[in-house]
Amino acid sequence: MRAHHFNMSLEMRTENTNYQDLYSGLIRIHILHHACRGEVFGLWMIEELERHGYRLSPGTMYPLVHSLEKRSLLSSKEKREGRRYGRLYRATPAGRRAFMIAKEKVSQLFNELFEGKRHSAHERLLRTVERTLARD
Ligand SMILES: [Zn+2]
Repeated sequence: MRAHHFNMSLEMRTENTNYQDLYSGLIRIHILHHACRGEVFGLWMIEELERHGYRLSPGTMYPLVHSLEKRSLLSSKEKREGRRYGRLYRATPAGRRAFMIAKEKVSQLFNELFEGKRHSAHERLLRTVERTLARD
């Protein structure tokens, strides 16, 4: 299970750079998802997305979260832990609303992508049954 996930991540990683535009919305939704659940550091999000097979440099991640903040979907505050220092992000109420709508759209797309498979398998089965019945 673990190895499978790892292989899939590697595969996705090689594709990542070629189709960045296809994934940018997914990445934003993923960021919003975690920022709705709690406060997140930019660096943590880079690691989290890497775990899911998206390789983002800080030079890509920070403009991305800044743009979400500029659109008032995220808010941020500075956090100092000893000598470590960073910016914590969390979803605003507008960010939560935007996330709920995006989540619904992801759910619909997910259903179409994966229900479709089940449908065609079901249709193939039906055709086989019909052919079998026609033969009798
Ligand atoms: Zn995640």
